[in-house]
Amino acid sequence: MIRKISIIGAGGVGSNLAFNILSRLQISELVLLDINKDRAEAVACDLEDTRGFLDFATRIKAAKRYSQIKDSDIIIFTAGTVRKKGMNRQDLLKINGSIARESARQIRKYSPRSIIVAVTNPLDIITYLILKETGFSWKKVFGMGSSLDSGRLLHLLFEETGIAAGSQQAFVFGPHSKDMILYLEKESRFYQKEKHKEISHKVRFRGAKIVELHKNKSAVFGPAAACCRLIEAIAFDKNQIIPVSVLLRGEYRIKNVCLGMPCVVGREGVVRVIEKKLLGFQKKKLKQASLSFRQALKNL
Ligand code: NAD
Repeated sequence: MIRKISIIGAGGVGSNLAFNILSRLQISELVLLDINKDRAEAVACDLEDTRGFLDFATRIKAAKRYSQIKDSDIIIFTAGTVRKKGMNRQDLLKINGSIARESARQIRKYSPRSIIVAVTNPLDIITYLILKETGFSWKKVFGMGSSLDSGRLLHLLFEETGIAAGSQQAFVFGPHSKDMILYLEKESRFYQKEKHKEISHKVRFRGAKIVELHKNKSAVFGPAAACCRLIEAIAFDKNQIIPVSVLLRGEYRIKNVCLGMPCVVGREGVVRVIEKKLLGFQKKKLKQASLSFRQALKNL
């Protein structure tokens, strides 16, 4: 049974996720931890004010220190900074990487049996750093990235074909970046061939488009919904296939990098990685992504 969930980082994604959790799950305790303690407290108060309407029995706590995440069943890591003007991906990795490592040490100390879902960007490397720093099993630490990208693809396919998202046979895998890889069964290719490039481009740049329109703020509703779906898969032991960033251990002859793969997710975390038969160009892109991952890690 899932009793306690802690969210590290009570910003846009963290606070929206908290609202999703309270709307959809019955848990005993929800903890919000943020370096900006006033923000965590403000979000906690605001969420408490929805109790009268949503009727949940969850205790909501704004944590002042890491000891308050003690014995969490699930921890969602959304802490960090978003990429600001003049900052490249490597600068972002340096800042968020050190926050992630520190957080991972605290999680290992206070919640050694938890399942951790990473959200902070650059997602694949942050997932890897948390995995290595905690020393947890690869099944217990994974990242939410490809599932959001897949959700975006399903929406675009719906727009193009009118077929409900849940009936589409399509997902996104590989890196959570513009180099993501699309996988579409032929049943989902109910659109004109020349449209494929356009759809692919829109999926790859949808996150960036949202940042550009918001000006220095990234998406929140999509990421929060994608995280909540993962939490429900764990909480209700759904064994549902969801693409997540996971440690590769020889799949497609790639080892020791985290990349998005369709995985069976249930009460124990990732139950298994599904290896789909890929086309030559997809394998090549995956290999390239693993090389870029290693390079970024080397420069850290
Ligand atoms: P945000 O700036 O609104 O929230 C981040 C929060 O982290 C802030 O409240 C900040 O005070 C807190 N924080 C910073 N350092 C901390 C520390 N050391 N300890 C605890 N808290 C700390 O950002 P957001 O929109 O919520 O996004 C959070 C992260 O998620 C970003 O890295 C963003 O790029 C990423 N993101 C990923 C996806 C995905 O698909 N994986 C989607 C959206 C956003």
